[in-house]
Amino acid sequence: MSDPEVIVVGGGIGGLGAAYALRRQGLRVGVLERSASFGEVGAGIQLAPNCTRILDAYGLLDEAKALGVVPDSMVMRDATDGSELTRLDLRALEERYGSPYMVIHRSDLHGLFLRACERAGVELVHSQQVVGYENTPTGARVSFEDGRTQEARVVIAADGLNSVARKLLVDDEPVSSAYVAYRGTVPATEARVADVDLSEVAVYVGPGCHFVHYGLRGGELLNQVAVFESPKALAGESDWGTPDELDAAFARTCDFVRDGLPFMWRDKWWRMYDRDPIMHWVHGNIALLGDSAHPPLQYIAQGAIMAIEDGWVLGEHVAPHQGADGSVDWTGALAAYEAVRPEHCRRVVTTSRAWGQLWHLDGLAREQRNALLRGRDTRDWSFIDWLYGPTALEPRDEPEMFHPVPLASAGHDPVPPASPAQPVVAVAAGRG
Ligand SMILES: Cc1cc2nc3c(=O)[nH]c(=O)nc-3n(C[C@H](O)[C@H](O)[C@H](O)COP(=O)(O)OP(=O)(O)OC[C@H]3O[C@@H](n4cnc5c(N)ncnc54)[C@H](O)[C@@H]3O)c2cc1C
Repeated sequence: MSDPEVIVVGGGIGGLGAAYALRRQGLRVGVLERSASFGEVGAGIQLAPNCTRILDAYGLLDEAKALGVVPDSMVMRDATDGSELTRLDLRALEERYGSPYMVIHRSDLHGLFLRACERAGVELVHSQQVVGYENTPTGARVSFEDGRTQEARVVIAADGLNSVARKLLVDDEPVSSAYVAYRGTVPATEARVADVDLSEVAVYVGPGCHFVHYGLRGGELLNQVAVFESPKALAGESDWGTPDELDAAFARTCDFVRDGLPFMWRDKWWRMYDRDPIMHWVHGNIALLGDSAHPPLQYIAQGAIMAIEDGWVLGEHVAPHQGADGSVDWTGALAAYEAVRPEHCRRVVTTSRAWGQLWHLDGLAREQRNALLRGRDTRDWSFIDWLYGPTALEPRDEPEMFHPVPLASAGHDPVPPASPAQPVVAVAAGRG
């Protein structure tokens, strides 16, 4: 790699987003990716207005929309009986937040950033597994297994859930949720797709499981995600999340959901981990970004979005810390980044956990949840304003959180007292 000012480790959506954001500020940026090529595994991804607003600022939104789908509504249904619980009008949502809610294939989003980086002159180098990070008197250095090293003024570690760089800041491990995700896409030519309204993002929430679907690539594909709690994981077995568990987990769900299961990919699945939030992401001239800093459970569909926001915020803090000669006060820029992002991401990670609990309720708690969701005003934005408004650049811009609604307020008769562990309803609609 020729003399970069910034090295980004990791060429996922977070790493490429950050590389593009920093290159826009006129910096020489290189990305080191361990895989033999740059790419993304998986199927669909949902992009809320707090992300599409940034894509628009980058001049990439029209291309993203051409590759994806802008659905009309997001609907949450009960997975057991298929009945509707609540919905969001995504056109009204676009009006409120000034940017669309859209869905896109992961590889298309990744490709969008990859092409943008290439056009902008980011140096992209694959087959580079970084094994060590250290600060130097003038910046930071990464090292490789064969003993080579590479230096820059700053290193951004976008190396994902199992980040090596994170160990510089905290001695923690990923937290297993015991839930596993199956994914799959169905071509529009299949009869299954005829039963589906492709203008909807739909989530079916059930006891210990949920099922999501939405259209991709202008309706050429139906994306499906099936998520469930693995009994084998709860029993401490290492071989967990297998296809036999998938079928058993959805046995109590409605016909529509069960009919979708044969279309899931059965040869790979994603065990779902997050990490407890940390409030320090910067170690000298090395900073965490994306899943390395704040891997969430995916229930509010903000993991990749947070990573894209991280890159944008960092980029926006470069300009005010740049001297007339182009040199950057990195201590100041990284401090401004660390002042605002960890608190927002802490909120997302903890809300994602609570939202997952709410989705997977059974028994009386499920009935209480359903009653609250059915009764909510579908044009009440108070539960999502904190998330979908403009990304904060300063701590004072971070919006207030919503006020949770206790499940027991659903008014069942008799209502048992809410235990402290009982989830609260943070009403929005469904993501997966
Ligand atoms: C089922 C599911 C559904 C989801 N749905 C959504 C959604 O709808 N919306 C949303 O916003 N998010 C969603 N997410 C979350 C989202 O996928 C992640 O948060 C996001 O992809 C993280 O991006 P990243 O670039 O930070 O990390 P990663 O995608 O993990 O990328 C890390 C990159 O670093 C590379 N790397 C790792 N270690 C090294 C090393 N030592 N040296 C060099 N390179 C290295 C890896 O090869 C990889 O390319 C979902 C997640 C799951 C599991």
